[in-house]
Amino acid sequence: MNALAATNRNFRQAARILGVDSRIEKSLLIPFREIKVECTIPKDDGTLVSYVGFRVQHDNARGPMKGGIRYHPEVDPDEVNALAQLMTWKTAVADIPYGGAKGGIGCNPKDLSKSELERLTRVFTQKIHDLIGVNADVPAPDMGTNAQTMAWILDEYSKFHGHSPAVVTGKPIDLGGSLGREAATGRGVVYATEALLAEHGKSVKGLTFAIQGFGNVGSWAARLLHEKGGKVVAVSDITGAVKNHSGIDIAALIKHKEATGKLEDFSGADAMDANELLTHECDVLIPCALGGVLNRDNAANVRAKFIIEAANHPTDPEADEILSKKGVIILPDIYANAGGVTVSYFEWVQNIQGFMWEEEKVNAELKRYMTKAFHNIKGMCQSHNCNLRMGAFTLGVNRVARATLLRGWEA
Ligand code: NAD
Repeated sequence: MNALAATNRNFRQAARILGVDSRIEKSLLIPFREIKVECTIPKDDGTLVSYVGFRVQHDNARGPMKGGIRYHPEVDPDEVNALAQLMTWKTAVADIPYGGAKGGIGCNPKDLSKSELERLTRVFTQKIHDLIGVNADVPAPDMGTNAQTMAWILDEYSKFHGHSPAVVTGKPIDLGGSLGREAATGRGVVYATEALLAEHGKSVKGLTFAIQGFGNVGSWAARLLHEKGGKVVAVSDITGAVKNHSGIDIAALIKHKEATGKLEDFSGADAMDANELLTHECDVLIPCALGGVLNRDNAANVRAKFIIEAANHPTDPEADEILSKKGVIILPDIYANAGGVTVSYFEWVQNIQGFMWEEEKVNAELKRYMTKAFHNIKGMCQSHNCNLRMGAFTLGVNRVARATLLRGWEA
């Protein structure tokens, strides 16, 4: 089942549990607006090349739409659609005043020079500038884009609308980015994990963790869990995997990765088969890399008691069922990785206030939002006798459906 089908299925189930009016259910499945634009730029050698840019704006009942822009050769409109919808539920679960959106350009950023990427980003912004905006749709970085991409969008957008730092988040600090944004998703994953463990009378200290993916999210989550006394016993990335049953020194592993570009040959751990990471002996498994990694082929062999979905859509519905039957507790992606968009919201607030927060304030507010959302999800689980994934979906869908009803239907 692809990401769109799985998202629609979860949405429909949540709508059924909540008894959402069928007209609202139908309207929430259809995106508010789908934009497709042609972006033609001169390459550095003078030849012209065209790319297709997308922006799916899913829903704005609770506020401006929010979501990433990715540059990837296979930007699939169906997937962008599913991800835009997921952003609507995710921002509602986190209780930040946003709707959901997602977009991208079908290109391979590795094949483009920096000046070609800048031209492409500026042309894309020229084509969509009337449809995004501080109070309309606020893009952020995603796969293949970064703080520099957001700086170009900010500059191009500001030519049309005046200086508008709040039109994008994930900006460089010098242009109004927030302190704490880089670590926010990984830090949010740790706050979410702490909230779940506390519910089960446990804490990070002394528990064992296996982490798939050692990029932005995985390395920050690993570093913070290690600092809190957790034992990170296995880590993998695209280059390989390492294990140490006494716990890996994560700060040293980060240094090793920076120096060599890979996890292997780290003196503080043994090499292991990366395919075994998901079924490695541990208390908590945290997928932080790709979607669909937990499936019917490996779910029965998972040994963790808790799975924290830091990646988007890491568990396919068949695996979900197998894992639930085994009694594995899964913290769903629409909550577990919401720390990034939550600190994006803080960035937007700081830009609108024209006032920069200290990092301690950003982290304290993030902890407050993540902990509150967890208790709100648990409340839905108790009211509707459902698991955490359906608790999160019913929480998000209920908030969006309520806002839609309150705003009214008359044209
Ligand atoms: P990243 O590109 O920084 O890191 C991805 C990591 O996954 C890398 O270490 C890479 O080597 C590893 N990886 C790739 N293929 C792998 C494989 N087959 N086996 C093991 N490891 C593999 O990306 P990121 O920003 O850390 O995002 C990770 C996940 O979290 C993605 O699913 C992303 O959509 C999701 N996410 C990220 C954010 C954010 O703020 N960065 C927010 C929400 C969700």
